Amino acid sequence: MAEQKRDYYEVLGIDRNAGEAEIKKAYRALAKKYHPDMNPGDTEAEKKFKEASEAYAILSDEEKRRQYDQFGHAAFEGGAGGAGGFDFSGMDMSDIFGDIFGDFFGGGRRRSASNGPMKGANLRAAVRVTFEEAAFGCEKEIEITLKDECQTCHTTGAKPGTTPETCGKCGGKGKVVYTQQSFLGMVQNVQTCPDCRGTGKIIKEKCPDCRGTGYIASRKKIKVSIPAGIDDGQSVRIRDKGEPGTNGGPRGDLLVEVRVTRHPIFQRQDMNVYSTAPISFAQAALGGEVKISTIDGDVLYEVKPGTQTDTRIRLKGKGIPSLRNKSIRGDHYVTLVVQVPTSLNAEAKEALRKFDEASGQSLKSQKSAASGGEKHGKKKGFMDKLKETLEDI
Ligand SMILES: [Zn+2]
Ligand SMILES: [Zn+2]
Repeated sequence: MAEQKRDYYEVLGIDRNAGEAEIKKAYRALAKKYHPDMNPGDTEAEKKFKEASEAYAILSDEEKRRQYDQFGHAAFEGGAGGAGGFDFSGMDMSDIFGDIFGDFFGGGRRRSASNGPMKGANLRAAVRVTFEEAAFGCEKEIEITLKDECQTCHTTGAKPGTTPETCGKCGGKGKVVYTQQSFLGMVQNVQTCPDCRGTGKIIKEKCPDCRGTGYIASRKKIKVSIPAGIDDGQSVRIRDKGEPGTNGGPRGDLLVEVRVTRHPIFQRQDMNVYSTAPISFAQAALGGEVKISTIDGDVLYEVKPGTQTDTRIRLKGKGIPSLRNKSIRGDHYVTLVVQVPTSLNAEAKEALRKFDEASGQSLKSQKSAASGGEKHGKKKGFMDKLKETLEDI
């Protein structure tokens, strides 16, 4: 049985009285998140993408939305005899994308001048880089499936020597009008012609090389130049590596989203880098040189005597280069954390006790304040002695 369909408003996460712009905005966010190109091999994302697209197709169409509001999912069932199945083939998805994503996804996918040159759709892909690669830029190679015009038939899809014929079903218009009996009486539906799939032409003998599609898809390796300073989620545009254009139009672009892997030490905000660095108690008290890791490698920093824990220092110009001008760099802020030693040998302990005696005798005053005295005097018990011995090992 068909599984229970979710409410379209719920799918898009919008109110029942949401306006057109709100519907579009909600769908745009979901489509970007779940687009199959951005989630290769993820069937769950694909399902979500389809679900959102279906919800959008209905709710963005005034008439269909009215039907849905009145009858729910039942409004679209029964037409093709199958319950629950939404027929995507009758829906012009490119139209939705052209409309919604504009230049972002598809460029000139809009059906305007039907035979004029049209730019191909943009493709999207993602690439993962390290923190340092994002900071300083790098070259990456990605593999994508790219369509090229079939050289045998020059995109007609017809076997060389034959020509496509005008579609008999739609008379070359690519669209057919269906009249359907439904709850609402006779309903007219304009759909993409199923025979020619909207092209208006029927290919009798298919081109053997592209099997009639007019295009040949192949895996291609593409070099991506990641500029210094790029941040997680930003995209690199590679011109002319998208879908081929039609009627002599240019190819679309390839948009490669950069995903930056988290760094174990460094954090980034815009052009600045943040990290913490440990310093010893002696370094903090006496001052001196401390080795600090930066994206340029280790640097020596002169700590002032009497540095407190959580002191934040600035390493000017050790941050991320600007995306616009890589000679301009942000800063690196380091929080110095004074380490309290956890395992001391006898000698170090003795030295610390001496240090304490010479610097205010905090140990002594605490002891007498806490227990009134005599615990560590002559009447030491066996257990106390044992403890002391163990601590000294
Ligand atoms: Zn061909
Ligand atoms: Zn047709």
